Amino acid sequence: VDFILSEDGSGKGAALITAVIDKYLYAMRFSDETLRDIMARFRREMENGLGRDTNPTATVKMLPTFVRSIPDGSEKGDFIALDLGGSNFRILRVKVSHEKKQTVQMENQIYETPEDIIQGSGSRLFDHVAECLGDFMEKQKIKDKKLPMGFTFSFPCAHSKLDEAVLLTWTKRFKASGVEGMDVVKLLNKAIKKRGDYDADIMAVVNDTVGTMMTCGFDDQRCEVGIIIGTGTNACYMEELRHIDMVEGDEGRMCINTEWGAFGDDGTLEDIRTEFDREIDRGSLNPGKQLFEKMVSGMYMGELVRLILVKMAKEGLLFEGRITPELLTKGTFETKHVSAIEKSKEGLTKAKEILTRLGVEPSEDDCIAVQHVCTIVSFRSANLIAATLGAILTRVKDNKNSPRLRTTVGIDGSLYKMHPQYARRLHKTVRRLVPESDVRFLLSESGSGKGAAMVTAWASRLADQTRQ
Ligand code: BGC
Ligand code: MG
Repeated sequence: VDFILSEDGSGKGAALITAVIDKYLYAMRFSDETLRDIMARFRREMENGLGRDTNPTATVKMLPTFVRSIPDGSEKGDFIALDLGGSNFRILRVKVSHEKKQTVQMENQIYETPEDIIQGSGSRLFDHVAECLGDFMEKQKIKDKKLPMGFTFSFPCAHSKLDEAVLLTWTKRFKASGVEGMDVVKLLNKAIKKRGDYDADIMAVVNDTVGTMMTCGFDDQRCEVGIIIGTGTNACYMEELRHIDMVEGDEGRMCINTEWGAFGDDGTLEDIRTEFDREIDRGSLNPGKQLFEKMVSGMYMGELVRLILVKMAKEGLLFEGRITPELLTKGTFETKHVSAIEKSKEGLTKAKEILTRLGVEPSEDDCIAVQHVCTIVSFRSANLIAATLGAILTRVKDNKNSPRLRTTVGIDGSLYKMHPQYARRLHKTVRRLVPESDVRFLLSESGSGKGAAMVTAWASRLADQTRQ
């Protein structure tokens, strides 16, 4: 396994400290052999989700999205896009025009989503969304218009068409009552009707992975995979329709939302989960669910590190055994701290600042140790994502029946974007696990809103055609 000592680990015993931690956390460090094994397991999970007989009991749901193609450059119009479920609730206005070449103009606003609203009653949540939308339209002076709207809703949904999305289960920080099992388009329409001060025409609901793939597909036609590594994690990709038993038809492709966050919910990953992963799960809003997500995504990474630090301190391996109430408090160590501590130049200074705030009076060696704990936890995340993404890439390659795959993966998510080493490690491991591929990783600079507008453009054009 290729862990490099922290570039500035100048403390006397840096090599010794990291060696001790490597040993202590050996269960979080995977050989390529293990990663290939996880890749093969995920490959089977994908097949289970796609097959008619295996789908009902599949853990990785492989949800059809009813998105049939990536942007082709002919999209145009004036759209509203809602983006709910990531680290920010955003409303966007997206104008796509065609003077000589396709250009996109976007304006957006972020709205608060307080905990009591996302974990309260569903009707209050949708009233809140409708209220923010009203505010946005007011500011844009478009309350009298009925612009086509796309909804990026970053949760697992069952679709029977583009503009119907039944929430299967909440994930991450959301837990509003009375929404699971319901069509979110209906719920939002109802909330808008109730207000009566404006009208909306929701044309499409897309997962954030799909929005990301479409956003990147706008710039790179080869993009056929979308992934999110942020608060939560997930991926989508273009699958051959003939392999999707749950949808009629054999011609062409459809985007599949894998919902890989649920990988392991049936016990498939028990051999690689640690006591820390189990503790995270027990303390979560959705015990027993999204087990893969809890090992890798930004919502849990800082807390994973904290649990490790607590155990090590209790055993006298850190802070001379000092344990403070702050260190013992859930949520005091955040994923953004992991990112700060892993910065190659200021990392150790950051570690000192952050640990000092927790009151543990860290020594220089403690800072080196904590930096290495962070490295192991974030490296594990990148490795696991490399394995599942590797499975998708080999599947896409096999679908094309070609010995090599040249493709583009669209990516977004706060962890991927903010962590100083994450992207490099992920890219490197994917290339090692799938050597027969030339993968371009494309960061979605503008989030998933542009992509949602592309899908909406496509849907509204289709609606116009059917009306004629
Ligand atoms: C959700 C996915 C979403 C991902 C990233 C997961 O918790 O289940 O639908 O794509 O988070 O936002
Ligand atoms: Mg089919």
